Amino acid sequence: MITRKRTLTRRCAICGKVYYGFGHVAEPVAPGRCCDRCNAEQVLPERRRALRVVEDGGRKANPNV
Ligand SMILES: [Zn+2]
Repeated sequence: MITRKRTLTRRCAICGKVYYGFGHVAEPVAPGRCCDRCNAEQVLPERRRALRVVEDGGRKANPNV
């Protein structure tokens, strides 16, 4: 059978499984979108880590703080 409603089923850019619904932006882990599970287990931690790097870099760049 051919699935017509392609907007409802998408493939996760990280684990490759088909997920339902809107999904999440998979960057910076992978280009495209990902499923709920990969978002929670990989994308969110990676974003948090990236933010921390930016904050640390900002402090080092300013010796007066
Ligand atoms: Zn996934």
